[in-house]
Amino acid sequence: MTNAPSHPSRLLQAADYVSGVLEGNRSTLARAITLVESNAARHAALAEEVVQRILPYAGGSIRVGITGVPGVGKSTFIESLGCLLCKRGKRVAVLAVDPSSSLSHGSILGDKTRMEKLSREPACFIRPSPAGGTLGGVARKSRETILLCEAAGFDVVLVETVGVGQSETTVRSMVDFFLVLMLAGAGDELQGIKKGIIELADALLITKADGDNKLHAESARIEFSRVLHYLTPPTPGWHPQVMTCSSNENSGIAGAWNLVEQFHDATMKSGFFGEHRRAQTLDWIREMLEQELWQSFARNPATTTHWPRVEHEVTEGRLSATAAVKQLLNLYTNNHDPKN
Ligand code: GDP
Repeated sequence: MTNAPSHPSRLLQAADYVSGVLEGNRSTLARAITLVESNAARHAALAEEVVQRILPYAGGSIRVGITGVPGVGKSTFIESLGCLLCKRGKRVAVLAVDPSSSLSHGSILGDKTRMEKLSREPACFIRPSPAGGTLGGVARKSRETILLCEAAGFDVVLVETVGVGQSETTVRSMVDFFLVLMLAGAGDELQGIKKGIIELADALLITKADGDNKLHAESARIEFSRVLHYLTPPTPGWHPQVMTCSSNENSGIAGAWNLVEQFHDATMKSGFFGEHRRAQTLDWIREMLEQELWQSFARNPATTTHWPRVEHEVTEGRLSATAAVKQLLNLYTNNHDPKN
């Protein structure tokens, strides 16, 4: 069952959302996610209250980010991994972060025919990417959706993304473990290696290691292991590993999960796991604060009135950039309405 976004128009009370989510009720969870995804100002206070109230029950999952170019085999891999985890008694939530969906109105990820087998697993919950808004907006909604899924009892949260702009860095900032899927023999450029994606990885997985491709996959594994050796690992004390897998043959999937479990054990033991989550939350606060402040600044009537004049004076060379910033900030603070 794919949990299509429900409509929050008939609003429940905060207590109904909270109790439904905590009971693990799918339809209430889907509605709570729709509520936090809503861009409507009238839903904001209720969404905030719901998230605040479920917060003590969140945090109990392992959050795994999965990325790779379109066609690398992300959804097929997630389906195999998800089914394996469900078989082992885990409850698995699959989320997507796809900012392309809001730009193009068609998503690279998240169409409904994907992961059919996994979507039939009763212990699995699949949610497509929130639509609308910037990557920052999509990320806020996804972070809160992770919390809601955890409060609903999901112990593994898989967050899938595709390399569009900054989306990998954004997903990296909301997960514990970051897995980069790679194809053997598809140019470095194509796979975003130049953009430093593999520097973000806790593990690399060479996909489609089957049939004629098996040998290529193995040589790519050796090659990438060599490359990784020269990079600073993103997680202190953890050396990113390169493995191969085939979702078609169901090989290497359990091995990839073993790696996630080893990582979890090691970082729990070292204390990094909790430390990293706290740092991520603080970064998230700072990011939201920057956005809120910028929006408040951009809405301020005094700054918007004077902006074109200041801009003109700067480009004409009559006002320095530093003096311009000072003027605009003064205008902002002297005309700031705390309600905005
Ligand atoms: P995504 O765009 O990254 O989500 O990639 P998909 O999971 O949709 O897979 C892209 C294509 O690769 C599909 O045609 C899959 O059938 C194929 N594919 C996925 N995994 C494997 C695999 O393990 N082996 C082989 N040979 N093909 C695969």
